[in-house]
Amino acid sequence: MDLLLKDKVILISGGAKGIGAAISKGLIEEGGIPVIIDPSPEGEKILMLANGKGLHIPIRLEQPEDAKKAVELTIEKFGSIHGIVNNAGANDGVGLENGSPEAFAKSVSKNLQHYYDLVHFSVPFLKKSKGSIVNISSKTAITGQGGTSGYVAAKGAQLALTREWAVELLPYQIRVNAVIPAEVMTPLYEKWLSSFPDPDKKLQEISNRIPLGKRMTTPEEIASTVLFLLSEKSAHTTGQHIYVDGGYTHLDRAL
Ligand code: NAP
Repeated sequence: MDLLLKDKVILISGGAKGIGAAISKGLIEEGGIPVIIDPSPEGEKILMLANGKGLHIPIRLEQPEDAKKAVELTIEKFGSIHGIVNNAGANDGVGLENGSPEAFAKSVSKNLQHYYDLVHFSVPFLKKSKGSIVNISSKTAITGQGGTSGYVAAKGAQLALTREWAVELLPYQIRVNAVIPAEVMTPLYEKWLSSFPDPDKKLQEISNRIPLGKRMTTPEEIASTVLFLLSEKSAHTTGQHIYVDGGYTHLDRAL
């Protein structure tokens, strides 16, 4: 299927590693133009796959000015924005007992604020292109995880904002959807696994609980769904929360 993403300019926060990198590479395969907003130098290497077509903005989105700058640089270079993938984030383990009110506020802000900022500054351009927004959330927003209140609050808010923005942006034909992963092998996930005394055993335990195929979801499988949601091929899909998780969240994990 041709996703009709050729020459479409898509902002991808955290687009240099893990799930974001798979989205950037998938977009390049479709002939699209990724704008990779990520501090990692891996961003440059990904752009080489596109013969330099695209833009790497090597910053960490922290303050609203960062998102504003990313949007300005994109418009300066390409003149338009056709889509946004809000993806950057990290499960930072700020819980009730292992946290503090200050650490909670910081964790929520770190994982949520830039989702709003990128969309806020892009709306004028998305109105012109009738663009598409995809928010990457997490199954932890639905299932809970324990010990990570800040991250989960942000992930839940991203799902609420998906519906809220889908409504607010309806008049402009801008679509907004969320993709919800559960267990995906990425640099972030590997780091988390390595915190266990026997990472291989832990990985086996987790994989055994994933109903479809007893395996982790690949970053490319998340990317395929994201690219479809960015594409005009999903032109009548908005406000949806789409689980790409091998049945982890809804099917009986004892199966
Ligand atoms: P990852 O392997 O850490 O890759 C994320 C990339 O984003 C990294 O290059 C990271 O840079 C960058 N980044 C982080 N914060 C940023 C910011 N504020 N501005 C710009 N770049 C930033 O993470 P991932 O596992 O692919 O996760 C991507 C998304 O999927 C996250 O929203 C996460 O919550 C969600 N998710 C992942 C899983 C999973 O199993 N992996 C499950 C559910 C949901 P640094 O490495 O320098 O920080």
